[in-house]
Amino acid sequence: MSEHKDIWVFSENYDLMLELLAAGNQLAEGHGPKLAAVLVGSGIEEKAHELIKYGANKVFAVDYPKLKDFQIERYLSILTSLTKKNKPEILLIGSTKNGKELASRLAAKLETGCTPDCSTIVIDEKGKLLTKRIVYSGNAIVTATYLRKPQIATIPHRAFEKQEPREMEGEIIKVEVTVEEPQVELVGINKMEVADVRIEDARIAVCGGRGIKKKEDFKPLQELAQLLGGQTSNTRPLAEDRKWFSGWVGLSGKKIKPTVYIGCGISGMIQHIAGMRDSQVVVAVNKDPEAPIFEVADYIIIGNLYEIVPAIVEALRKTLKN
Ligand SMILES: Cc1cc2nc3c(=O)[nH]c(=O)nc-3n(C[C@H](O)[C@H](O)[C@H](O)COP(=O)(O)OP(=O)(O)OC[C@H]3O[C@@H](n4cnc5c(N)ncnc54)[C@H](O)[C@@H]3O)c2cc1C
Repeated sequence: MSEHKDIWVFSENYDLMLELLAAGNQLAEGHGPKLAAVLVGSGIEEKAHELIKYGANKVFAVDYPKLKDFQIERYLSILTSLTKKNKPEILLIGSTKNGKELASRLAAKLETGCTPDCSTIVIDEKGKLLTKRIVYSGNAIVTATYLRKPQIATIPHRAFEKQEPREMEGEIIKVEVTVEEPQVELVGINKMEVADVRIEDARIAVCGGRGIKKKEDFKPLQELAQLLGGQTSNTRPLAEDRKWFSGWVGLSGKKIKPTVYIGCGISGMIQHIAGMRDSQVVVAVNKDPEAPIFEVADYIIIGNLYEIVPAIVEALRKTLKN
């Protein structure tokens, strides 16, 4: 019988960690392994208790001032020594840029496999982790399993919804470790200007595409988002080719899962759809009745976005005033 046991979750992003606990709980159901969270940081006691309310049976808390910010070598050395000692069966890591680097390096250190950006994870009839992820610009799904343990998978933001917190029994294990000194010195962190709510967390997402001719013409979309309490985003060409924005929604960008997605002047190429296909309600504005985005839309508006978006903004303003 394997000496590996339990499902572990880790992310340097606390919100994502809560979603990983939901993912781990779903996996553990009916299979019996315990769910443990690895919490690394500085001044993390309160969060350690909170993780139990979100489903962790155990929390490995590694609390040092040096660990306040993510630093790959330090975090990797902690995760490596903890996993070598405690031998988890499955390790779910948040699919942030840092998380993916950490997961792949950890897999190499432990001589095991790692599947990135999994959209589905299940335990098969042999008790092995089975993962699915979208590849080839959304045209294929790879199903993978593992030859060795721990089985490491990275899970993107909003692939799972965090559970409601509830009073639960759990154990907090304070871990004393020697934190490896990094080979590089962090000289500073310049925080990027970001919206109050990230597009990944927005309940309403208003996205613009190449149908918008000038950057100033994006303003009505921003007004619409503001009136609805949402955020704006865009397709990749508006960021990569026109350099109007730094990020985008899609396969190679952010994955979003809003209650309402409103796409304006977006054709609906598979690479964009891959980032918004989990939206609950899709509204699309396009002048081309054959636009592929209409295939995934719940509400179709055929027409010129330069007339339609301002008209919606105007109508909303009037309604909200009354
Ligand atoms: C490897 C790879 C990865 C990629 N990843 C991504 C990704 O993550 N995200 C992403 O978005 N793209 C990605 N792309 C690019 C993707 O293939 C498409 O080129 C892109 O999504 C198209 O953007 P668009 O819909 O804004 O532009 P277009 O395809 O040019 O569509 C513009 C649409 O606007 C409509 N339109 C024009 N004027 C008006 C008007 N006045 N009123 C109403 N409608 C109007 C047109 O009918 C058209 O349908 C990727 C490409 C590659 C090769």
